[in-house]
Amino acid sequence: MKALFRPLLLKWYRKSARDLPWRRTRDPYRVIVSEFMLQQTQVSRVEEYYPKFLARYPTVQHLARARPKKVRETWEGLGYYARARNLHALARTVVKDHDSAIPSDTETLQTLPGVGRYTAGAVACFAFEKREAAVDTNVKRVVERVFRTKNVWEATERILPRRGKTVWEFNQALMDLGATICVARKPKCPVCPVRSACKTGLKERRPRKRQ
Ligand code: SF4
Repeated sequence: MKALFRPLLLKWYRKSARDLPWRRTRDPYRVIVSEFMLQQTQVSRVEEYYPKFLARYPTVQHLARARPKKVRETWEGLGYYARARNLHALARTVVKDHDSAIPSDTETLQTLPGVGRYTAGAVACFAFEKREAAVDTNVKRVVERVFRTKNVWEATERILPRRGKTVWEFNQALMDLGATICVARKPKCPVCPVRSACKTGLKERRPRKRQ
């Protein structure tokens, strides 16, 4: 079943991927800005604010030099300002301690302000095409349902493709599936592209016994 899940998911993604601005870049700064914005904010809202923020602060150095008040103003409308504070602190740390280059390994990434296991995995994969898992709420739900497991990080790491480029697609695909089909309240199993490889989906398909 595991062997089937991966090709089904990738095939679907290659046809139905959402075209999102942060997917058109491998610039680590742009990827990290998108990841901070996407925490607790809907994709459609981030699509609106992301270009504005990048127009104002196009590089990590621009952001590091900015005044906190100005960063907060640019973040206005996205809410959860702790993220803006952390992103600003991250930019200053990167400029000061990492020669303005965002690190590529998950261990160093996690030493930066506001970066936890998920964001570190997402940046390593989405910016550097590294073979890393990135388990956010959507991915967790998908993997739990498909494999009926509680060890989600471990299970996700085990099913990653071998090549970094394909891991990039695979992680994006897991997120898209969780956001559009394997949604929280009512998963759309009848139209799900990975149903034949999903323990939950297959169980739902079994015909009920006659009374
Ligand atoms: S078959 Fe249903 S439970 Fe399984 S991944 Fe698809 S939508 Fe989610």
